Amino acid sequence: MTSVSASGPAPDEVSFLIIGAGFAGLGAAIKLRLAGHDDLVILERADDVGGTWRDNTYPGCRCDVQSNLYSYSFDPKPDWSETYPSQPELWAYLQRVVRKNDLGRHLRFGHEVTEARWDDRSRRWLVSTNRREFAARYLIAGVGALVEPSLPDIPGIGTFAGSIMHSARWDHDWQSAGRRVAVVGTGASAIQIVPSIQPRVEHLTVFQRTAPFVVPHTNHPVKPAVKTMYRLVPATQRISRTLVYCVREILAIGFTRNPKILKRAEVAWRRHMEKAVTDPIMRAQLTPTYDLGCKRVLPSNDFYPAIAKPNVSLVTEKIIEIRPDAVVTADGNAHPVDTVILATGFHVTDNPMLGKIRGKDGQTLADAFGTTYLGTVVPGFPNYFQLTGANTGLGHSSMLLMIESQLSYIVDGIAKAQAGGGKFEVRPEVAAAYNAELQRRLTRTVWSSGCSSWYLDSEGRNLTLWPGFTFEFRRRTREFRTSDFVLS
Ligand SMILES: Cc1cc2nc3c(=O)[nH]c(=O)nc-3n(C[C@H](O)[C@H](O)[C@H](O)COP(=O)(O)OP(=O)(O)OC[C@H]3O[C@@H](n4cnc5c(N)ncnc54)[C@H](O)[C@@H]3O)c2cc1C
Repeated sequence: MTSVSASGPAPDEVSFLIIGAGFAGLGAAIKLRLAGHDDLVILERADDVGGTWRDNTYPGCRCDVQSNLYSYSFDPKPDWSETYPSQPELWAYLQRVVRKNDLGRHLRFGHEVTEARWDDRSRRWLVSTNRREFAARYLIAGVGALVEPSLPDIPGIGTFAGSIMHSARWDHDWQSAGRRVAVVGTGASAIQIVPSIQPRVEHLTVFQRTAPFVVPHTNHPVKPAVKTMYRLVPATQRISRTLVYCVREILAIGFTRNPKILKRAEVAWRRHMEKAVTDPIMRAQLTPTYDLGCKRVLPSNDFYPAIAKPNVSLVTEKIIEIRPDAVVTADGNAHPVDTVILATGFHVTDNPMLGKIRGKDGQTLADAFGTTYLGTVVPGFPNYFQLTGANTGLGHSSMLLMIESQLSYIVDGIAKAQAGGGKFEVRPEVAAAYNAELQRRLTRTVWSSGCSSWYLDSEGRNLTLWPGFTFEFRRRTREFRTSDFVLS
């Protein structure tokens, strides 16, 4: 038996160790079980499944992709209540998936992975959690990309005397009625929070660094007859999914090949914004100064109407300080507030988890992230799979398309690795050629057109997004090509 630490009890030995119980980790467990692998454990630091859809419980939280596409293709839900799923419904969907697939016996809640390293001698991943040690032949990280809240480093933030919370750590004891609230940020979460709390708060001050493009939303309730049709004739829901899929793939042309196509969407955006906002100063503040698509395009019908309400102020000056009872901006104004909501996003390219996974030479995944092949395997990290890894993010469609492609690659890879001796490692030159191609293509995309966004790392490299159609990613991950790997 392998020993993780020099002393202490022997680790729990398992064939497959999955970190994370979100869409990715749970999907991996389901697919491994279907392939006949039952000796698997899912480590989850929280006390429930759900990942994103467990953590983001802020008012108004909703997926930007249609329910029929933002769900596992192998586990459709015929009775989605709305065409775009809300957070509670998505969380309940994942809990049901767990029960249906009997994943409960594989789940270990309250296990935060603090370190994982490859031990070449035992050909095992040695993984420490806050509770115990594990040794595994294969490690599958489904730790999420948008999971570690990013808190702004504003002078004085620690002195704030009122309520302060990040959008992904919502305090449900907090009541919005009669409050003077600051919302910091105007990204995907903020544009959902603002209209949800605006009618009840006394005053809302929205601090905007960069104006987003907010476009019309088409969410609506699913009619009972449609639900019945999906239940009785499942093929109709598959057709609906395919239609949504095709329309969204067309968007990829604009994002990755010909950003000029997106110019037309700017016309729709302007109409949408100017219909709700009549004040010319506010219109100017809400007008982005970059190309549509460079930052995430956000759908909402009620953000602009909410921001134009008399109890809302839009502030575009930089925040320079937080005092016990106010947010101070660069123009010297102190904005009195009793609540600060930080809708400031996540540590994406600097996710601290990347520093806790070490390959065969002790290098961390943070060092090697840019060398990931197909967003899934990494040179120097034998028997390791990363879900939603480098360059698997999408600006136009459902992340589940990427996750499911990765899952079939993993299942194929495990079968081939086992046939080839049990150990695999991607060839560095294969990964290098792949990443050079990706970075070359990314320079032609709208994401490289000059805005600053969370898609780019501190050096301006885009290690976040996939620069093409999702069917291209599906094709490239269809087969785990043994010639790309050293098997032993
Ligand atoms: C507010 C919000 C809205 C979004 N909207 C969309 C959308 O409209 N469309 C879309 O395609 N995508 C959207 N996303 C992206 C979304 O994260 C992915 O679609 C998908 O849910 C990712 O699943 P995952 O399993 O990879 O990660 P997650 O759902 O983040 O799950 C990761 C899990 O790993 C666990 N974990 C992390 N570190 C450790 C550790 N050290 N030890 C143990 N467990 C750990 C976490 O607790 C978590 O449960 C959104 C994300 C956010 C935050």
